[in-house]
Amino acid sequence: MTLSLPFDNSYARLPDRFFTKMAPTPVDGPSLIRLNEGLAAELGLDPAALRSADGVAMLAGNAVPAGAEPLAQVYAGHQFGGWSPQLGDGRAILLGEVVAHNGQRRDIQLKGAGRTPYSRLGDGRAWLGPVLREYIVSEAMHALGIPTTRALAAVATGEDILRETALPGAVLTRVAASHIRVGTFQYFAARNDAEALRALTDHVIARHYPDASGPLGLLKGVIAAQAKLIAQWMGVGFIHGVMNTDNMAISGETIDYGPCAFMDGYHPTTVFSSIDRQGRYAYNKQADIGVWNLAQLATAILPLLGDDQDAAIDEATEVLHSFPDMFKAAWLEVFRAKVGLTTAEDGDAELIHQLLDRMATNGADFTNTFRALSTDAARDQFSDPTAFDTWAEAWKTRLSREAQSSDARKVQMNATNPAVIPRNHRVEEVIQAALSDDFAPFENLLMATAQPFGETPASTKFTTPPTPAEVVHQTFC
Ligand code: AMP
Ligand code: MG
Ligand code: MG
Repeated sequence: MTLSLPFDNSYARLPDRFFTKMAPTPVDGPSLIRLNEGLAAELGLDPAALRSADGVAMLAGNAVPAGAEPLAQVYAGHQFGGWSPQLGDGRAILLGEVVAHNGQRRDIQLKGAGRTPYSRLGDGRAWLGPVLREYIVSEAMHALGIPTTRALAAVATGEDILRETALPGAVLTRVAASHIRVGTFQYFAARNDAEALRALTDHVIARHYPDASGPLGLLKGVIAAQAKLIAQWMGVGFIHGVMNTDNMAISGETIDYGPCAFMDGYHPTTVFSSIDRQGRYAYNKQADIGVWNLAQLATAILPLLGDDQDAAIDEATEVLHSFPDMFKAAWLEVFRAKVGLTTAEDGDAELIHQLLDRMATNGADFTNTFRALSTDAARDQFSDPTAFDTWAEAWKTRLSREAQSSDARKVQMNATNPAVIPRNHRVEEVIQAALSDDFAPFENLLMATAQPFGETPASTKFTTPPTPAEVVHQTFC
């Protein structure tokens, strides 16, 4: 094919045992659902070329462009706490890496690209629903200022795939700083392959943590990135849903949007995922799970920390133990901004927790309550508005010690508390409409979530919580 992208594939230059080189499996009837033109431009790719027949063929996995070195990555991981020694890209193919004008190197991956040696019993495909969900939610996260993989395109395959019923297939083109996971390190550690661990560490340091001095420095970098990332999730009421170690990116980006969701009414123990029966990945467990996952990374790099393994364990443990304080600090920074504080006082965490507690007992909508703090409408979010009023007295006393003017505070709060998030019932509505070939709701939701901090929209379509009949109780991969 004539389409050519500026590929430079550093992962493909790693040893053979890091991947299986193979092309995507072609599909019957590819058609473009959506191209992310803004992202294409950021990557230095020509949107018109991507829209052309050659472009769509590439995005569907029907043609491999010049310079690509398609491969499926191998990894391992703990899934819901249970060890899986052999995972990998079971339905994804990495086409290669492109380096944008700003020097940023990014993976171009097709998700839903057919079977690989790592597919186990899976069909290697994705259906339209999860592809649209990942497109919407990952782009919304980006607009919210949260590190994330991106969506470059969604393509329909023209093939049905079998889930509980026959469903239309689709391919998502995912863009990521890399797809290297905690589970990538675990894969080689479990095989006592220190040489591969060293190559992986060098690769990751060069790519993501150029200032890290070595494996321990890398661990520090990943811990800091994850502490900040999870605090940012908490700040928008985001529940990842499947924080398995194979779904935690070393780069610090949010990755793998499966049964993820944003909370409507605030409750700390909220879970959506149909497969998370124990609530392992509930909203308020995410920091604890983060450190659990990072402990697996720390364990994986131990062989690189010298011959004295007792000393290595002590060193790695000490680094790991920095996570809780880092997370607390990051969480406070996020939530202080959400309640309009620019300075730090000892009682701030308690003040914020008191608000959250009252939100939980009063069925307050997470997004709308914080957004309304900059107006006089927040009390309306509480089943007993006086529960807000008594909190607000303490809050106003605290605000009186802030130098910032109330006008400036309002602007700052509206830039940190989104009006629009991709609410689950709207995502479901998009998917249902798309199943009837109506993609207008998809486009509308994308448009609304692209400007989360703008003027609160006149239409309440995307800001109103679900009615009881609209509530989505469970999300599925
Ligand atoms: P996930 O739950 O999406 O993080 O996936 C966990 C593992 O299952 C990964 O190794 C995936 O590649 C694999 N997997 C998930 N869905 C499929 C599928 N439809 N076909 C093949 N492999 C899959
Ligand atoms: Mg290989
Ligand atoms: Mg995964």
